[in-house]
Amino acid sequence: MDSIYAEGFRPEPYWWDDVPRDGGAGLPADALPDRADVVVIGSGYAGLHAAITLARAGSDVVVLEAGPLGFGASTRNGGMVSGGVNVGKHARLDAATADEMLAEAAESYGWFESFIRDEGIDAVYQRCGRFVGAHTRAAWQRQSEQLARLNDIADSGASMVPQDRTRDHLASDFYHGGMLLDRSGAVHPAKLHHGVLAVAGAAGVRLFGGIRAGAIGKVATGLQIETSHHALRAGAVIIATNGYSGDLSPWHQQRVVPVPSYQIATEELGAAAVTDLFPTHRMIADTKRLLFYFRPSPDRKRVLFGGRARYLRHDPAAGAAFLHARLVRIFPQLSGVKLSHGWWGNVAYLRDGVPHVGESRPESLPGVFHALGCHGSGVVMMSWLGHRAGLMAAGRLNRPSAFSGRRLGSFPAYRGMPWFLPLVGRYYGLRDWLERRLDR
Ligand SMILES: Cc1cc2nc3c(=O)[nH]c(=O)nc-3n(C[C@H](O)[C@H](O)[C@H](O)COP(=O)(O)OP(=O)(O)OC[C@H]3O[C@@H](n4cnc5c(N)ncnc54)[C@H](O)[C@@H]3O)c2cc1C
Repeated sequence: MDSIYAEGFRPEPYWWDDVPRDGGAGLPADALPDRADVVVIGSGYAGLHAAITLARAGSDVVVLEAGPLGFGASTRNGGMVSGGVNVGKHARLDAATADEMLAEAAESYGWFESFIRDEGIDAVYQRCGRFVGAHTRAAWQRQSEQLARLNDIADSGASMVPQDRTRDHLASDFYHGGMLLDRSGAVHPAKLHHGVLAVAGAAGVRLFGGIRAGAIGKVATGLQIETSHHALRAGAVIIATNGYSGDLSPWHQQRVVPVPSYQIATEELGAAAVTDLFPTHRMIADTKRLLFYFRPSPDRKRVLFGGRARYLRHDPAAGAAFLHARLVRIFPQLSGVKLSHGWWGNVAYLRDGVPHVGESRPESLPGVFHALGCHGSGVVMMSWLGHRAGLMAAGRLNRPSAFSGRRLGSFPAYRGMPWFLPLVGRYYGLRDWLERRLDR
């Protein structure tokens, strides 16, 4: 069998070809101060937006990043952006709470578009819209029941596509029609991150890559943060580590499960071939529990395809082979196509299935805030929640967030090793498969 890997296959994000992770743009470790008003842990979208908001409110802010700046999901994701259609998708919420969250998510999209426009960020942003394929007829029916709510509350510009019109948007017969969302778009995620990083630097935020934060404790003057360089003191700390939270804080570790998502990029197919596959150039997602998400690359010459592939023993090449087989199920015409890149990154799952922003333990460790848990849809949402965490820490939040005030529950049998993910993945995969079989 011919190899599915193109010559020079790279086991790292396609996006890093344009914006390499060389650790640039940060300050040297020797410049790490002994104290700051606020220490932000994590340099993804959430951490950077928290830092920008605080710095613009007059605080002296230090960002600590364990890897090179932007090491986490913020430079690895699919770059699909929207106004919250996925927020709380699998959560059990009462109708009023779900509507409040949807309204805030819709607000976050307007804020996000304004931010990149006002700051002149070249994120290759396109308001191209999204097509969410229905994996069964019942899923199509459920989508159509959501339509009015999405349009009324989130102004989503949503409409239904019957099965026989699917090919207007996708050269595939895999889906039973689906939903179109107009208030939705695409970015180059690493260019977006690069632009936000520059805004943070210009706002006076001191950014340190290669410094891992450790234990956070109370001292007479506020908080002390251990680091891999030296300890520093601060009045407040913002935890923005999401799916990379690791053992930074045992309390947070028990509440945040990292779930890996894999992606592949095909070799260049050419603009005409990609337009044949995606005639309207929309972003594509679907209604399965283990969804596929895919898109044309920003230059529209390749296909980028993502989904769950492996859960514990990570291997970008093996994950790429798994996804290649799924890509060919959607587009059988791509069976001979080779892959130029394969990679993975972590998203964060929280117990109640919705993102959280707030003060973690005001009773025992006041001043420690978090913005966590976008369950795979965080380009806009984590940026927004970082901004909201910054406002909270600055004491400038003039109205509560729909994503704060809920209890951040722990996972009873989880102590840092998500041993249960392969089982959950298999179970969800089986249910998706069964539903499609029964739908025939
Ligand atoms: C493969 C993939 C595809 C995705 N696709 C999409 C998509 O198409 N659309 C969408 O909306 N969302 C998508 N997401 C989700 C989105 O990327 C994330 O929700 C978002 O980037 C999270 O941003 P963040 O700043 O919270 O965390 P991250 O960007 O993950 O940043 C957390 C940072 O914290 C650092 N850190 C951790 N511990 C420490 C410590 N002790 N000290 C210092 N630093 C530390 C990590 O190194 C990391 O850089 C995807 C995610 C993945 C992984």
